[in-house]
Amino acid sequence: MSVVGFDLGFQSCYVAVARAGGIETIANEYSDRCTPSFVSFGPRNRSIGAAAKSQVVTNCKNTVQGFKRFHGRAFSDPYVQSAKSNLVYDLAQMPSGSTGIKVMYMEEEKVFSIEQVTGMLLTKLKETAESALKKPVADCVISVPSYFTDAERRSVMDAAQIAGLNCLRLMNETTAVTLAYGIYKQDLPAPEEKPRIVVFVDLGHSGYQVSVCAFNKGKLKILATAFDSDLGGKDFDAILVNYFCEEFGKKYKLDVKSKPRALVRLYQECEKLKKLMSANSSDLPLNIECFMNDIDVSGKLNREQSLLSNIGVSLRGELEQKSLKGEDIYAVEIVGGASRIPSIKERISKFFGKELSTTLNADEAVARGCALQCAILSPAFKVREFSITDVVPYSVSIKWNSAAEEGLRYEVFPKNHAAPFSKVLTFYRKEPFTLDAYYNNPKELPYPTATIGQFLIQNVVPQPSGESAKVKVKVRVNVHGVFSVSSASLVEVVKTAEGEEPMETDQAYFNLPGVYCSSLLFQTSAEDAKQEKKNDQPPQAKKPKVKTKTVELPIENNLHWQLSSEELNTFVENEGKMIMQDKLEKERNDAKNNVEEYVYDMRDKLHGVLEKFVNETDRDSFSLKLEDTENWLYEDGEDQQKQVYIDKLAELKDELYDHLDELEVTRVGKQVNDAMVWMNTKMNQQNNQDLTLDPVVKVAEIQAKTKELYSACNPVVSKPKPKVEPPKEEKTENGPVNGQEGTENQPSNPDKAASTGTEQETAENKLPEMDID
Ligand code: ATP
Ligand code: MG
Repeated sequence: MSVVGFDLGFQSCYVAVARAGGIETIANEYSDRCTPSFVSFGPRNRSIGAAAKSQVVTNCKNTVQGFKRFHGRAFSDPYVQSAKSNLVYDLAQMPSGSTGIKVMYMEEEKVFSIEQVTGMLLTKLKETAESALKKPVADCVISVPSYFTDAERRSVMDAAQIAGLNCLRLMNETTAVTLAYGIYKQDLPAPEEKPRIVVFVDLGHSGYQVSVCAFNKGKLKILATAFDSDLGGKDFDAILVNYFCEEFGKKYKLDVKSKPRALVRLYQECEKLKKLMSANSSDLPLNIECFMNDIDVSGKLNREQSLLSNIGVSLRGELEQKSLKGEDIYAVEIVGGASRIPSIKERISKFFGKELSTTLNADEAVARGCALQCAILSPAFKVREFSITDVVPYSVSIKWNSAAEEGLRYEVFPKNHAAPFSKVLTFYRKEPFTLDAYYNNPKELPYPTATIGQFLIQNVVPQPSGESAKVKVKVRVNVHGVFSVSSASLVEVVKTAEGEEPMETDQAYFNLPGVYCSSLLFQTSAEDAKQEKKNDQPPQAKKPKVKTKTVELPIENNLHWQLSSEELNTFVENEGKMIMQDKLEKERNDAKNNVEEYVYDMRDKLHGVLEKFVNETDRDSFSLKLEDTENWLYEDGEDQQKQVYIDKLAELKDELYDHLDELEVTRVGKQVNDAMVWMNTKMNQQNNQDLTLDPVVKVAEIQAKTKELYSACNPVVSKPKPKVEPPKEEKTENGPVNGQEGTENQPSNPDKAASTGTEQETAENKLPEMDID
């Protein structure tokens, strides 16, 4: 069981794990804790993370970035269409109407769903976690922005599944931050005391989120969230890019936006400039060599001129409604990369009337919070008890049709309602019916569609008396923040005492218009299971003589932008194939690199440590061989199968003693050593002895020792190298000339025919078999 948290950012990702009794943000194979959210597609493999980012200029059309916000959206969605015009890579419509990305992969045009692309990124993050933990990773917690809708959340869950991850919770980014902050605090108010209110602000690359959180000992409760889902560091980059596009247009007559590659480079340079501006208020230069049409460009800008301060930090409605005053707020904590921009800090501070705190690591807090949540959920890990109550980001309503009236509706979860949470609704029906779930306040949504999904409650039948049956429907916002109709049951009246009517015993009762729906009731506790039990058992005082039986009803879900299980299975399978392809390609590349490394290494040694041991002729011929191999690597050997490189290396390493048995060689080494010790001892003894005395060792003993050494070592070191010839079948493949060679009656090359007698041929034919062993 793994304890891992993933911060799936728009621009970059972080991975945190539980290790050695603590939470640790871990580094990737480049020793970097930040992994760029990039996937690059090539003719033979994919690159993901830092390796993909490094291809953003050279392979810009097939290097995908900034795709986080395409989850759960139609291709026709205005956001997608407007983003599309600024992208260097192509988007395409999936058969279901959702958004996909179009790239060249394995020399074919491919359209990948957004779940697949995020799945690829998660595959990389999973591998990073696995190599740090040195064990397989499946269980994890993944972050999403607090403003993500159901469709987006479900889409990220599918991506996790594609990557083979078992996401225990999709956690809102700011909630993860609150946990990373709160769980370590020792001085929180006792549960019955007034909570400590802390505001958390996360300004990332794509979005701006604010959460107001109430802390007591052992628990945190999100009171409200507010956000601008379209304000982040990227907007500051865009301002700088536009400024320089205009500037270079005037100064160098360049139309930068017409050249994707130049535009990508300008974005990179402007991001660097933006970061420098956070620390410097003086003029800062921007220089790019060979920018476009072989022209070098340069410009300069300072913080004041940059217009960065013109970007507003609006905090809509909710926070003001909460009428939070500076004195109620214990602290305003800021995180997220773009929270380092001075003008932004100033505005946020002004809004809350408070100095800002930077207690947490601005980049890693989300991942750390997710890992903490994973540790809390993991039975294998002991963590301090900490309860987390989140909120519903948008009001959720359901509507249903009745024969008599159209469009009855009910708001099940108002905005900022506690989550996760279940409610039980009661309907009186004679037949199956459909509940339509939707976001009832489209103005709150950054999306054109407010649909969540339809839920068909099946197998509803009237009571034996012909009256409507009582149907209890449990609706839920689960730990991932996703709405669902989690169960439905039919309450059958089995026996009624004479003269008594079945009586409604639930605690809350609403009369709603409509023929078939006579009541709708709800309960108000997150402890749904316990509460439901209570509701099922009528209070003693009112006890009617009614016996009931509950029958579970099947529910058919039709969720908006939900991948079908067939699609998902195909994606899981394809991801497996692509992982395998990447692995094979890596092995092939490694084999190639081994050849290259050997060439450089041996060349160094030939003129270095080994120089003394090689005569000039041998050195020249080996140097030549190395040079030939190097040239081959750039020409014919540029793109070969793995085995070709392995063979090439073996050919280069064709050393005299390669064929010797390792054990025998070790034995020879030991014998030589022993002989040397014997010799040195004797020499020492002799040196320390008066020459008038008999020598410590006699010639005959030395000769005997030498003989002993030779007879033990010689058979091993002079063992002939087995002769390896290509198998005979290969010869026949080479065409008519060799074919003629094999013709016994008419040898076309008498010399060769004479030199390769039948006896030798048989011996040669056997050799390759040995080699295979
Ligand atoms: P999101 O949270 O929107 O999904 P993300 O998590 O990938 O995105 P972060 O890593 O929090 O985003 O922040 C990245 C943004 O912060 C980028 O726009 C980056 O340029 C900006 N940034 C990082 N450091 C600085 C700095 N010193 N000054 C200004 N901006 C910075
Ligand atoms: Mg972020």
